[in-house]
Amino acid sequence: MATSTNKLLCVKCEKVRATSKCAGCSHDYCYDHLRDHRQELNIQLDYIENNHNHFRQILNEYINNSEIHAFIQQVDQWEKELINKIQQKANECRELLKKHINENIHQIEINLNKQTDQLRNIVKENDFNEIDLNELNEKLKELERQLH
Ligand SMILES: [Zn+2]
Ligand SMILES: [Zn+2]
Repeated sequence: MATSTNKLLCVKCEKVRATSKCAGCSHDYCYDHLRDHRQELNIQLDYIENNHNHFRQILNEYINNSEIHAFIQQVDQWEKELINKIQQKANECRELLKKHINENIHQIEINLNKQTDQLRNIVKENDFNEIDLNELNEKLKELERQLH
């Protein structure tokens, strides 16, 4: 069988034909089998593309996972509730302290003012004895006790 130099063996049909070399696998194909070879490669590409899209779908499901979003919402809710509780407790503490100042400490101040008047009077009149001094001392100690 005479072969012209511009014709080569097709790797598929093993006939000497006008061929084209595939740059990817370096095989020589006749034009019919080159078309088939390209078709095979297209099928492989489709397969890879499908896997690629399937993986993207799975990834998107992870990103949009409703359980994770629900959990994030739970954390948000928990944060709000905790902040509210802390604010409520802080307000209660402030009110208690204000009440304590208003009721107890102001009353002590009033009593101390009375004693100051009494003390000034005694000094002014120069009218006192040990009993008065003792009484003043005891009253002052009592106010100190109340403050603590
Ligand atoms: Zn062929
Ligand atoms: Zn090839």
